Amino acid sequence: MSEKILFVDDEPNVLNAYKRQFRKQFLIITASSGREGLEVIEKEGPFSVVVADMQMPKMDGITFLKKVQQKAPNSVRLMLTGNADQQTAIEAVNEGNVFRFLTKPCPSELLGKTLESALEQNKLIHAREALAENEKKLREANEKLAQANQDLEQLARNDGLTGIYNRRHFDETLQAELHRHARIEQPLSLILADIDFFKLYNDQYGHQGGDDCLKQVAKTINKNFNRAGDMVARYGGEEFAIIVPNLNAELAYNVADRMRQAVESKALPHSQSKVSDVVTLSVGVSTIIPNKTSSPEELIKQADKALYLAKSKGRNNVKCDTE
Ligand SMILES: [Mg+2]
Repeated sequence: MSEKILFVDDEPNVLNAYKRQFRKQFLIITASSGREGLEVIEKEGPFSVVVADMQMPKMDGITFLKKVQQKAPNSVRLMLTGNADQQTAIEAVNEGNVFRFLTKPCPSELLGKTLESALEQNKLIHAREALAENEKKLREANEKLAQANQDLEQLARNDGLTGIYNRRHFDETLQAELHRHARIEQPLSLILADIDFFKLYNDQYGHQGGDDCLKQVAKTINKNFNRAGDMVARYGGEEFAIIVPNLNAELAYNVADRMRQAVESKALPHSQSKVSDVVTLSVGVSTIIPNKTSSPEELIKQADKALYLAKSKGRNNVKCDTE
């Protein structure tokens, strides 16, 4: 397909000469005024190159080419001008509106070479545009991928119902924290909390009610642990596990009891509970200064024992593994 070139000149002889010179190489369309030129662009779509005479009645070449620039920014614009107007033409080039200007009458060989170089320029513009478009698409695709990965990571780490961390992530974190605390020789605490008489709660309020209760309790517990490194997870059905770094047993007991109180103060009705008329927690705490051989199972077992003790001592309370 030949490249489309638009010539605009108010002299019919000049236009005819252009046609004769270039019709074998390019698809030449002519217009005898700026206005007609704009109509042609409107009808034919953008041209690769637009060549305009500078001196034309009504609309001069500069005004015309400015309008072309607005209509079809990718068209490369050339201007033909008499000697006397060179200063104006230079300004037009410098303003960026015109790719080149040529003096009239222009030798056909020079005009031909200039047209070829203008067409190259046009191809370059399109290539650059395509490149920018590809880069944009790539960037968007990368952003989507990063978001999807982030979502996936979150899905893999969080409990679907309550939004707090899940058991899997808890297991990984506990292992890592044990190692870390063995290294820094600081105490690490594990708190296990169980909603009292949750089976009866479910029987009374239904599974939807049970789910809502789990969400509320998870939220309340989560709010209670704000220190760096604190980690609240759903451990099982109605059981929660909290990893608490760098606190001795007494302080760990205190934060556990503050959590227990916070849940009780929430005053979620529990008509079937045998220890209260609201939702309460039984809580077990274990604290160790781990060494290289300490295992998560050990800490969990101790916390579980403390939790069992809390239940056997009447529930809605906190017990430590030291008791
Ligand atoms: Mg003229």
